[in-house]
Amino acid sequence: MDKLRRMLTPLLFDLFLRPSRRVKREPERNQAFLTAQFSLFLTVFINTGVIYMSFFSTNPRVGLVLATAEGGFFLSYLLSRTRYFRFASLAVVIILSVIPLFNILLSSDRGQLAILTLLIWNTLTIIIAGFLLSPGLSRLFFFINILMIATFPLYVAGMTLSVIVLPLLFNIIIPLTATMLADHIRKQEKKQMEDILEVNRRLEKELNNKTVMERQLLYNATHDSLTKLPNLMILKNRIEHVMNYQRRHRENIYALLFLDLDRFKNINDTLGHRNGDFLLFEVGARLKESVREQDTVTRLGGDEFVILLEDVKGHSEVFPILQRLRDKISEPLELDDKTLHLSASVGVVMGREEYGDPEIIIRNADVAMNRAKKISGFSFEFFDNNMLDSVKSKLELESNLRLALEREEFLILYQPIIATGTEKTAGFEALIRWQDSKGNLVSPADFIPIAEETGLIIPMGYWIVEQVCAQVKSWQALHPDHSFSVSINLSNKQFQDSRLVESIGEIMEKHRVAPESLKFELTESLIVENSRETNEQLSRLREMGCQILIDDFGTGYSSLSYLHALPIDILKIDRSFINRISDKKEDIVYTIINLAHSLSMKVVAEGVETREQFELIRMMNCEMVQGYFFSKPVDPERAEKFLR
Ligand code: C2E
Ligand code: CA
Ligand code: CA
Repeated sequence: MDKLRRMLTPLLFDLFLRPSRRVKREPERNQAFLTAQFSLFLTVFINTGVIYMSFFSTNPRVGLVLATAEGGFFLSYLLSRTRYFRFASLAVVIILSVIPLFNILLSSDRGQLAILTLLIWNTLTIIIAGFLLSPGLSRLFFFINILMIATFPLYVAGMTLSVIVLPLLFNIIIPLTATMLADHIRKQEKKQMEDILEVNRRLEKELNNKTVMERQLLYNATHDSLTKLPNLMILKNRIEHVMNYQRRHRENIYALLFLDLDRFKNINDTLGHRNGDFLLFEVGARLKESVREQDTVTRLGGDEFVILLEDVKGHSEVFPILQRLRDKISEPLELDDKTLHLSASVGVVMGREEYGDPEIIIRNADVAMNRAKKISGFSFEFFDNNMLDSVKSKLELESNLRLALEREEFLILYQPIIATGTEKTAGFEALIRWQDSKGNLVSPADFIPIAEETGLIIPMGYWIVEQVCAQVKSWQALHPDHSFSVSINLSNKQFQDSRLVESIGEIMEKHRVAPESLKFELTESLIVENSRETNEQLSRLREMGCQILIDDFGTGYSSLSYLHALPIDILKIDRSFINRISDKKEDIVYTIINLAHSLSMKVVAEGVETREQFELIRMMNCEMVQGYFFSKPVDPERAEKFLR
């Protein structure tokens, strides 16, 4: 019995209760109504038998009324699967209050009246039990019904057996089903919640582990391993700090010294890298000795050092420091029985109020240093604006990007996404590249951030959708029998465009591409920011028929509550998790996959590079995989081969 029950409930659930998409978006009202829905459906189903009986036995008018009521129930059931489910519940209440009235008026037959009473009683109990979603309550009603059934034969003594047997049957079946369903739904809800909490806990743990490691990494990331001096990151930080201070204390001036050793490459090549390293270490130490306690000496890499002098009164205070630097650096250095005499070129920028960006002042110091390089021996040069002409700026990059868009220097590569079960190509991810005027392929990591910053990502984004649509259309013409979809990445910035969804819709229409052929990948951060407008845009995108993916899942945020409530179809597990996947049952990848499944989402594993990883992921029932193991992102011609 228990086995049957375990088999039957999920089946029934899938048949009648698997929420429609619309209803799914309102989870809190959803559950109660689902139970009611099912009760209604079953009542309609079984009562039809009773109605037939009524027609053919005694009183056809009663049958007519019952049939109308059934029609009403059925309509309510249909309604309840749409967004009008509130209206549906109202309809049920009205029907329920009208039926007894009619029947008392119409029926003269005691047996019919009895059946009716039972019928109404049943429906009421089940709906109440369903709405309150309480298995206990359902059980109570069930026992009351049993009691009624026990006394029922006495009451209708003299009626035919068939008229008794039918109500008897549905008296047992309906409450039992309601109880089972309420139980099932509750258990499922509980399990989902537990799953979410579990993954949440583990992601938090992973993030914690990450912070410990990150703290270690932070030192490494902020200090140069060779000289133990702070690096560029700290330098920028210090400069920013000094700039802020200067905004409040106008008289405060600072200076930035960009120092580059002369002929270092030469020394490094002839004396070997070990000696070169020692030399750099020694120079670092000498620089530190030449400046004051409050000044910052950093190494940018190679033989480039930058010194931040805080609080200098003007040029006059920089000169003595430059002198000390020259003296220290030119002190002879013994290396491998050789005596070296070093010299350096120094670019100096006086930090005045016009500077607001550390990068600019560092760049200017670099420019001045290059000028000083032209003079032999220890030399220095103070920066002035005329030196700037040869420097490439961010503005230039931006205008290059703009031009690139006009000249169509972008191209799209496609990386196959493979269905784990069949090992066939389920689709592709579209990944943009920039082929600049020199023919180099520039990675999106280098230009997408600038495109986002400048807003250029918006026209660029539409260009991508156009290209992909055209590509999809031509592939579909070549392979009419192969269904596949292409995923397009969307940046958060693109959602600031209120016409995003309409424009995408228009492009799809223009190319006659079905929305099912496109998926959109977005990051957790977009979802977590959770603005109403973004939610609406997502919902509309999905209503149009496009599926939504969460990209890089598991990297950003440990709050998963959004998964429950938002319109998401697929999770894409981040590469970093696949990288360190193991065959343990408690592997986080496995947990994430199970969680996604319990929320009716599919899963793509990203960055699958080896057969072992693929086999593990396949074992975990992950639907799709993507990664170098199958293919790198490739041009459309080569991608097309995957469809064959
Ligand atoms: P993403 O969306 O996470 O894309 C996946 C990245 O992982 C791609 O890098 C892909 O080449 C790389 N990848 C795929 N399989 C493997 C693997 O097995 N191992 C390793 N190590 N890497 C793998 P790609 O193409 O350089 O793109 C980098 C990022 O740039 C993308 O990350 C995405 O955030 C962004 N991007 C790329 N194309 C677009 C675009 O058209 N629009 C927008 N908004 N962003 C894009
Ligand atoms: Ca992606
Ligand atoms: Ca990704």
